Amino acid sequence: MKYKTVIGLEVHVQLLSKTKIFCSCSTAFGKEPNSQTCPSCLGLPGSLPVFNMEVLALSLKAALVLHCRIQKVMRFDRKNYFYPDLPKAYQISQYDMPLAQNGYLEITDDDRLKRIGITRVHLEEDAGKLIHTGAESLVDFNRCGTPLIEIVSEPDINSPDEAYQYLTKLKSILTYLEVSDCNMQEGSLRCDANISLCPVDSAELGAKAEVKNLNSFKAVRDALKYEAGRQKRLLEEGGRVTQETRLWEENKKVTLSMRSKEEAHDYRYFPEPDLPIFEINEEDIETAKRSLPELADERKSRFVEQYSLSDYDAGILTSAKPLADYYEKCLVILAEPKEVANWLAGAVMAELNARNENFSSIKLKPEELVEMIKLVRDGKINSKAAKEVVLPEIIEGGKKTSDILKEKNISQVSDEGEIGKIADEVIRRNEKSVNDFKEGKKNAIMYLVGQVMKGSKGRANPKTVKEILEKRLSE
Ligand SMILES: [Zn+2]
Repeated sequence: MKYKTVIGLEVHVQLLSKTKIFCSCSTAFGKEPNSQTCPSCLGLPGSLPVFNMEVLALSLKAALVLHCRIQKVMRFDRKNYFYPDLPKAYQISQYDMPLAQNGYLEITDDDRLKRIGITRVHLEEDAGKLIHTGAESLVDFNRCGTPLIEIVSEPDINSPDEAYQYLTKLKSILTYLEVSDCNMQEGSLRCDANISLCPVDSAELGAKAEVKNLNSFKAVRDALKYEAGRQKRLLEEGGRVTQETRLWEENKKVTLSMRSKEEAHDYRYFPEPDLPIFEINEEDIETAKRSLPELADERKSRFVEQYSLSDYDAGILTSAKPLADYYEKCLVILAEPKEVANWLAGAVMAELNARNENFSSIKLKPEELVEMIKLVRDGKINSKAAKEVVLPEIIEGGKKTSDILKEKNISQVSDEGEIGKIADEVIRRNEKSVNDFKEGKKNAIMYLVGQVMKGSKGRANPKTVKEILEKRLSE
């Protein structure tokens, strides 16, 4: 029997509004526990929620880019459940009258576009956070009332890799829109995954498991791979899959049964009596449409066309908005798109990756990077010195490229006399490579170039070195 994998994802995204969804408390992350609360988000009797219109503007942008149909009227509902980090014992969410429905997101799978349906995008408030210290559990209500959108996909995803792609694409869109920072470590993007298996030719879906506790896109992919394997073995042995919620154990790389899955009726949804029904008018939608920025795909195409970049380089440079913005800031100072792209996508990215940093926090000023690129281009320093000495210093921020040049004595040597002396010494000491070269192994010269570079402590101009060696060896 052949099975197909059916996956649907529920993604919760915190919106970047300054204040909470139903009160004016700040949403800033990482503040003193319980310092950002008020009677409303603490659920104290007598307090009333007031809807934050900034949240509507942000969520409309997300819904529009996901090609959803915006509803004319939306309503909030109470989702009832008891949990220590939820002081009201209900969450204000949306049930049958959500913000938007029937959209899609396109992913690229083996070079072909695939459309993943979006069932709905709805608004809700976040709960607080429990901190377990071993002996006791503490509760921090700062996160209570932080605005969330929940984006529910159709079960159109057919492999763990597609799920990974979907999430990557979704994150790219939402960060480009600046509606969320989608930082999984800080919990501003959270994902639950539903997965089931059914015979390839079956129209009916199998019983699904919902997997929770997924802390990275990689964890989503790993957990889905594990879960698909587990369900397949079960079915092949003649067993059946139980509909339940399972937890991903990151350390053991397995999913474990947590509880039977709740159904909607378990939550006793009913309309939130303290908030009116909202009409979403054309004007709000038009305003949101006008504020939509250029997204990654469009920007990539533009980079390829306008700056003659390769698809690959354009893809890297537009992978995050801060990086693409940075690139274009550099181009304002130095109109050499290809050269700047090579440095940014290559050495700068490598250095940032090695430091586990990314472009949203980069301290390197475009002026200093451009200054370094010019010095290399004008032959004042070689690219090795730029990469190994200058770049790590200017990436720290605060230092000027010109000062580092003076301080570190790395100016490039192009003087033929000086390089010639080192070259003669290298030729004298490396008879074998010299003979190899003379016998026609042209690559042997690269070893000699390396030796001369070493002899000059990396300061020689490699182009001059090669020319001098070639001249000497053909004499
Ligand atoms: Zn509050």
